[in-house]
Amino acid sequence: RAKELGKNNYQFYTREMNVNIEEKLHLMEGLRIAFERQQFHLVYQPKVEMRTGRIFGCEALIRWHDPARGVIGPDRFIPLAEESGMIVALGEWVLRTACFQNRAWQDAGLAPLCISVNVSPRQFEEQGLVDRVARALADSGMDPRWLELEVTEGLIMRDLAQALDKMGQLRAMGVSLSIDDFGTGYSSLSALKSFPISTLKIDKSFVRDLGRSDGDEAIASSIIGLAHRLKLRVIAEGVETEQQRSFLSENGCDELQGYLISRPLPPERLALMLSGPDLIAA
Ligand code: C2E
Ligand code: MG
Ligand code: MG
Ligand code: MG
Repeated sequence: RAKELGKNNYQFYTREMNVNIEEKLHLMEGLRIAFERQQFHLVYQPKVEMRTGRIFGCEALIRWHDPARGVIGPDRFIPLAEESGMIVALGEWVLRTACFQNRAWQDAGLAPLCISVNVSPRQFEEQGLVDRVARALADSGMDPRWLELEVTEGLIMRDLAQALDKMGQLRAMGVSLSIDDFGTGYSSLSALKSFPISTLKIDKSFVRDLGRSDGDEAIASSIIGLAHRLKLRVIAEGVETEQQRSFLSENGCDELQGYLISRPLPPERLALMLSGPDLIAA
């Protein structure tokens, strides 16, 4: 696991780990070739407003289709793309594809959706990020207010001043920002109040045991309370059961996302869902 194997751990590598490193290099090379061959695609998971059941947005999630191995999920390759630096090119591709897709849905007559794109640390820290975002918006013709970037707490805390500056520039362009996986990183609550963000996203690890775990219920309801006191919206990810949904609803969570509503879908399937009647009861 690249994430656990921090950069400083290389000095401890053993013969067995050597194999892993080789495997890793092999996968990195595979990623580069896959990018050239355009073997990536995006799927889109709806986000629903709790009160009305209306789909107001969706999150773009990357998939790698390897002809031999089938579909590979991002947890397996995003950390590697981060490490190798390929995330900058890959992330730009995601951003542009998502913006063009969202614009295409609007052009097809669907009600405008807010599209969320994940931005990982190295991609966020890269010099040209703000320009890349501006270019993706200009080239696709998508209004900035329909774009949201999901960033993580850890990313912001790595270089707070720089992150604040960048977030400010994106906000000024009209792009929204949210904190993904909230509660899992080192959150500095004092820093949180200065972030120009609009939404906190409760990590799915706190959602899983709602209705069964007092601890997770306390965390989820505290995050909702915190978000509202800071005048932010709050969304729960990974909502799979009616029990979880009703806990979140009773505790004032604004939005939800998860298999209970829908799995991530190919673009044409999401369009179908959007053009059909609202099947989701509030
Ligand atoms: P994330 O941004 O926190 O995305 C939520 C993950 O939860 C997604 O996994 C989604 O498919 C999954 N999920 C959604 N609803 C449910 C549910 O009800 N139950 C469960 N168990 N899982 C659910 P996915 O697509 O495998 O993505 C994993 C992570 O990879 C993402 O976590 C994000 O950090 C990263 N990622 C995905 N796409 C991109 C991308 O385009 N760029 C970057 N930089 N990172 C990405
Ligand atoms: Mg996300
Ligand atoms: Mg998340
Ligand atoms: Mg996550």
